[in-house]
Amino acid sequence: MTTDAERKMQFLFALRSKGVTDARVLTAMELIDRAQFVRGYFAGRAYEDMPLPIACGQTISQPSVVGLMSQALRVSPRDKVLEVGTGSGYQAAILSHLARRVYTVDRHRRLVVAAQAIFTRLDLTNITALTADGSHGLPDQAPFDRILVTAAAEDPPGPLLAQLKIGGIMVLPVGQSDAVQSLIRVTRSEDGFTYDELRPVRFVPLVEGLGKES
Ligand code: SAH
Repeated sequence: MTTDAERKMQFLFALRSKGVTDARVLTAMELIDRAQFVRGYFAGRAYEDMPLPIACGQTISQPSVVGLMSQALRVSPRDKVLEVGTGSGYQAAILSHLARRVYTVDRHRRLVVAAQAIFTRLDLTNITALTADGSHGLPDQAPFDRILVTAAAEDPPGPLLAQLKIGGIMVLPVGQSDAVQSLIRVTRSEDGFTYDELRPVRFVPLVEGLGKES
């Protein structure tokens, strides 16, 4: 039989072996229990390094991808972060341990409500979850030190680039929805934007407008 402690050790070992080496990110991923964000049929598989289905036909990302994206974002404890694509809320919960303030938006109200309930239960008081079309960013709270997009667009959305502070970093998957996508890091300086291609990934598409039920 596998104990909880053994399962957690295996989970962290798998993250390290996939290249998640940042100590703050590993600590956050040790503290936040992914099983809290995976309900029902798939709950027993929460510690496996695979994406899993959640409500509204969406997915909770693979833990190693969450770790690699979080570390690519180079979050500091003073940062105000925007996440586009709340989904289950797992990535936002990890970010809440790394940043000062996290805003997370999803186009599906049902996902936002469910995620907010988990944040409240886990006492993650520095996260604000909102129903919104994240392709427009969050103008009321802009600019942001860091922006993380967890759904794939063909190109980085203009409003998100505009809402990034000078010195800010955005990490996002780009590419056609069903074809190969690349995870890229955009860094904004006084002179403009620099783009680094990090690795191939596969995300659900960034869709404009709110979900039907929202
Ligand atoms: N970060 C999530 C996984 C996200 S899956 C987690 O940790 O579980 C991608 C999410 O992006 C989906 O929930 C989808 O509804 C959302 N999404 C897609 N297009 C969007 C848009 N334009 N604005 C906001 N959310 C969007």
